[in-house]
Amino acid sequence: MDEAINKIDSELPEQKLLRLLCEALGNYLEPEQIDKVRHAYQFAAEAHIEQFRISGEPYICHPLSVALILTEIRMDQAGIIAALLHDVLEDTPVTKEALTLEFGENVAELVDGVSKLTHIRFQSKAEAQAESLRKMFLAMATDLRVIMIKLADRLHNMRTLGVMKPVKQRRIADETLEIYAPLASRLGMNSIRLELQDLGFKAKYPVRRRVLEESVKRARGNRKELVGKIEVGIKKRLVNSGLECRVVGREKHLYSIYRKMINRGVNFSEVFDVYAFRIITERVDSCYRALGVVHNLYSPIPGKFKDYIALPKANGYQSLHTILKGPHGVPIEIQIRTNEMHGVAETGIAAHWLYKSSSQETQVRAHEWLRNLLDSHEESGDSMEFIENLKVDLTPKEIYLFSPKGDIIKVPVGSTAVDFAYAVHTDIGSRCVAAKVNKRVVPLNTRLKNGDAVEIITASWARPNPVWLNYVTSTKARTGIRTYLKNFKEKEAVELGKRLLEKELSVLGEAYDEISNEKIIELLEELGLSSLEALLVEIGLGNRMALLTARRLTRKEGDEGIKLESAIDSDIESPLVIRGTEGMVVNLANCCKPIPGDPIVGLFNPGKGVVVHHQSCKNVAESRKNNRNWLDVAWASKTEGQFVVEIRVEVLNQRGALAAIASAISLIDSNIENITMDDHDGHTSTDFIRLTVKDRLHLSKVIRKLRALPSILKIARVMS
Ligand code: MN
Repeated sequence: MDEAINKIDSELPEQKLLRLLCEALGNYLEPEQIDKVRHAYQFAAEAHIEQFRISGEPYICHPLSVALILTEIRMDQAGIIAALLHDVLEDTPVTKEALTLEFGENVAELVDGVSKLTHIRFQSKAEAQAESLRKMFLAMATDLRVIMIKLADRLHNMRTLGVMKPVKQRRIADETLEIYAPLASRLGMNSIRLELQDLGFKAKYPVRRRVLEESVKRARGNRKELVGKIEVGIKKRLVNSGLECRVVGREKHLYSIYRKMINRGVNFSEVFDVYAFRIITERVDSCYRALGVVHNLYSPIPGKFKDYIALPKANGYQSLHTILKGPHGVPIEIQIRTNEMHGVAETGIAAHWLYKSSSQETQVRAHEWLRNLLDSHEESGDSMEFIENLKVDLTPKEIYLFSPKGDIIKVPVGSTAVDFAYAVHTDIGSRCVAAKVNKRVVPLNTRLKNGDAVEIITASWARPNPVWLNYVTSTKARTGIRTYLKNFKEKEAVELGKRLLEKELSVLGEAYDEISNEKIIELLEELGLSSLEALLVEIGLGNRMALLTARRLTRKEGDEGIKLESAIDSDIESPLVIRGTEGMVVNLANCCKPIPGDPIVGLFNPGKGVVVHHQSCKNVAESRKNNRNWLDVAWASKTEGQFVVEIRVEVLNQRGALAAIASAISLIDSNIENITMDDHDGHTSTDFIRLTVKDRLHLSKVIRKLRALPSILKIARVMS
């Protein structure tokens, strides 16, 4: 006996906690499972070996305490292990991969989830964001155990808050009252909620709390007699009716009294003057019998009876509620429920989750609850009211992101960095060039995840890229890009159209400024256009030829000229093969001659439109260094027509070699546009063949066919 006491006395704090943990786990886990928990303890203790809490205790005492708190809601083995490891990713060199190897994916995911929530920092100026933050927590924690571990973590930190500096205490208290306590409340985890609130209240308003505590003590003394009388009366009646049950007086908690006084502007006695009792029975039918008994004792106030046993609340909460008119007319609130119902009311979601075997059904139900919670706007300090608003079944449609300043930005699920930029501000959206997600540079089309910290890099020269329309999700981004392009397109087209027209006019010996108004009006009428600007847009967009317009404008009286309409049609090129240019003037670069299927990039040149290059074109590399006007462009999913491409072939000078090449090319539906030959030594020659193909696939067929010819030694595409 003495020995055992000595042994316990000489226990180190971490040894004691480990022993308590294993004892608690012994109530509901198998011995082999507890062995695994011990192993996790060893692992965590080693990882934190050099670290200490501010109190001076070895760091491992904290995760052990968190795990111990979780045994109270019978957290399962994986959850307990994750609780022991919950700070290793954050504070030690251990990686998620290492955790996966050692403890499996399940545990690694839980630890990772808890670490992610750790990154969410509450700022006092962000009080208005508290609701968003709470939702974000729920949305981020794909596994409910993550939130439970986080709540237990916070609870232990609050219990040991005294060692922190007062400023830090208040900050943490704020966070606890604004975020963690309401979360616990939503999850129905009432005992944790009450403790968090009380600890938070104590740290934030120590004086107010003390004053209130005194008031409660005094009031309790005053009404003690009456409370006792009522309680005895109820008990006696119940016993006389042969009912097995407990009667407990309920008292409002300090923090909820305080909140009610502040929020409703009422005085202490108005809040405190409610006499409340709870009757806990063994069986459901006893609840109704107990109800009959108390209704017989004091008369019920009409309209105040609620049967949450027959009609449970959304989260499964069950009880009978009634209000009676007590002695001297004081109202008496009564709740009647079974032991099991009481468990659900105290531990909430955890009861669904853990009390019974965690079957598929209970998990589905708990998740349903969580989804409902995401939609709840109402937050109430009262344990009974927090579930009233949970009706809508909602899958989250939004994700919550952080700006570098710590603001929370809400965007639709599936949003990219561009959506985020537009959500912050249209100007940020239209000037964005790159993005950092969680400090890493990523492409603008990266899909964002809940809780990502996003930073947008902007540049004054940047403008919205039409390609963004292919991947943005939010209406705000889409509208922003469209509006910009529409304005931009017209402005650019007018400028370009004017320049082209000027050039053609000067070739014809005329000056743009000297064209008479009558001529212009006459032409506009003929074309059915409303203004000169509209005509310039048409030219700039490539819908009308500058040359023909110039000729028409300089036509002398009696001159036949060219019939404008018919000539235009045949001259229109089809520039819209490139997706992402949305009507800008597009040309394929002459240097690298891209064809559909090639990786491409567009170089925007004010006044010239977009020139599309092959991505590996030398000119692009140069341009990318000096000129940042490049755009992401993509081929249309279907392109029509023929595209010019150049190939270089080394040929043995044999009779009929060229003819064989020509016929091979035409056999495969390609046309030769031009051939230049470069004779070497009379033996071989290098031929440059410019031909037309539909796309890259077509070109590769041509090349394969040519390669098969015996006279061909080498063949390659020319890219500059
Ligand atoms: Mn922790």
